[in-house]
Amino acid sequence: MTERFADLHLHTTFSDGTDTPRQLVELVHQTGISTMAITDHDNTDAIAIAEPIAKQLGVELIRGIEMSASIEDIEVHLLGFLMDISYAGLQAHLATQQQRRVQRVHQMIKQLQQVGVNISAEEVLQLAGEGTVGRPHVARTLLKHGYVSATAEAFTKYLSPGKPGFVSGSQHTPEYIIKVIREAGGVPVLAHPVYLRKDALIEQFVSQGLAGLEVYHSGHPPDLVQHYERIADRLRLLKTGGSDYHGNAKEGAPVGSVKVSYQLVEGLRAWKASHASR
Ligand code: AMP
Ligand code: ZN
Ligand code: FE
Ligand code: FE
Repeated sequence: MTERFADLHLHTTFSDGTDTPRQLVELVHQTGISTMAITDHDNTDAIAIAEPIAKQLGVELIRGIEMSASIEDIEVHLLGFLMDISYAGLQAHLATQQQRRVQRVHQMIKQLQQVGVNISAEEVLQLAGEGTVGRPHVARTLLKHGYVSATAEAFTKYLSPGKPGFVSGSQHTPEYIIKVIREAGGVPVLAHPVYLRKDALIEQFVSQGLAGLEVYHSGHPPDLVQHYERIADRLRLLKTGGSDYHGNAKEGAPVGSVKVSYQLVEGLRAWKASHASR
């Protein structure tokens, strides 16, 4: 049998990706990757839509999510895999978090107005449509109105921590989010540790119940992959990986550009079987 590969970090139109769940599953199918996880920001609505399409095409779909937390002014993203997405405690958290993200857009627009940037919250929210709204939707609106010449510039000029339009994506600590994922029967994994820039926090999260580290990611050059492999081995963490594909909202990270051996998927399942409550 040929070796199977998984891309465990993918976004759809239910957050800040530009592919619908159907387009994404079809794309994964075309690349020949056997297993995919949809990991939308603070949203699981794409999964029920993608499931029958994946089944029809013979693609294995892993339930996933990417949840926002913050600590010491650092934005932390936690991936959750294999949760019971019908668990009421999880969906209650997501509903609150999605509302907070709408309020956050209004706050960001207010702060941008103070530096002479005039875009409307309505336009940003309309762009997000039925999905979770986030900074990339603000960035695309800034681009459309000529305030920046690329979405990356919107982040460096306006939307990153310390810049005039920045508002934190979550008021919850990583410890709390790890707990929500575990209560939903999921496997909590720290996403793209490169953006954390503070390895000491990884150990702290492990003491709070973190199970895995996203060692393989489109933002990790080879030397950093090695660095995080060593950290994961030392702390006995599961390893995961994925492209963090966002469709045409993010350049340089096509589906399957980061793929992991199927053994890592089996590792997630084994951890769930021995740790999870549901
Ligand atoms: P949010 O969840 O609203 O805070 O937005 C987070 C998303 O913004 C990430 O998943 C990326 O897609 C995108 N993002 C964050 N920082 C940057 C950056 N410097 N350049 C481009 N996109 C970014
Ligand atoms: Zn994103
Ligand atoms: Fe992320
Ligand atoms: Fe992501």
